[in-house]
Amino acid sequence: MLRTIDAMRDWAKTERQTGLRLGLVPTMGALHRGHLALVEEAQRRVNRVVVSIFVNPLQFGPAEDLAQYPRNLEDDLRQLQGLNVAAVFLPDSDEMYPGGLGVTRVTIPGLSEVLCGVTRPTHFNGVATVVAKLFHIVEPNVAVFGEKDWQQLVIIRRMVYDLNFRVSIVGVPTVRAENGLALSSRNRYLTQEELKKATALYHSLQEARQLYRQGERRRDALRRVVVDVLTNAGLSYEYIELVNPLTLQPSPEYLQGPTLVALAVHVGSARLIDNAILGREQLDEAALHGNGD
Ligand code: AMP
Repeated sequence: MLRTIDAMRDWAKTERQTGLRLGLVPTMGALHRGHLALVEEAQRRVNRVVVSIFVNPLQFGPAEDLAQYPRNLEDDLRQLQGLNVAAVFLPDSDEMYPGGLGVTRVTIPGLSEVLCGVTRPTHFNGVATVVAKLFHIVEPNVAVFGEKDWQQLVIIRRMVYDLNFRVSIVGVPTVRAENGLALSSRNRYLTQEELKKATALYHSLQEARQLYRQGERRRDALRRVVVDVLTNAGLSYEYIELVNPLTLQPSPEYLQGPTLVALAVHVGSARLIDNAILGREQLDEAALHGNGD
């Protein structure tokens, strides 16, 4: 367990000098099977996996759930124990942002204002900034992110490309509960009843997928089934959008090529996100998942 940047850097340097390849899995803790799938994917690709646990204040808006965000270090470490993780990086806020939240920000215009960025205008700047810092501290060969946060994945890839980071970004498909609900640390905010309601997110995406398979290509018709399933479940949504999965720009009225259906929905006190890609088989997965590192 490493708590300082210096200790993390020294450890990584020693490992690298012996010729080992490093993988990084950035998390905010409150770990679940989704996070563990990222660790397993990293382990398939490198010799030493580092998991960072840091609830990054920079990516929370002023009215968001930073103070309430679930933290359970003991349970997190227990879950990682079975997985042969080489190091856990556990900086506190003062270590990452001495004397305040710093000044420099990494911004990715175009990708970070859409979808979740509409209501969370500084969120992705906060994410990109902390991930850039983590990449400089650990210097991993590979870093693994979840497709549940598709917009985040696209933004990190863009940052790595534009700023010439020497790291391969790998995406891992969303891990779900048996009932389809995407695992999320924020599911801990939900009551049993709300957990049941929240399965409508997955069902709405499944309905859209089925309609698409039947040949429907009208954007508005595909969006409409998602709206209907969610509103019938009594849920209010922040957005439901069909966009190009790489540029995140709105899809044309008639879908051409693979399309991301992305949604953010309020369930009780939680804001949950989920997504699906229609026509994924046409997506260039090689381009999407880096160079096979
Ligand atoms: P978080 O701790 O929520 O910041 O998430 C850390 C990483 O885990 C991010 O790359 C997320 O996309 C990923 N992640 C979260 N939930 C899931 C899930 N259900 N399946 C796959 N990856 C996930």
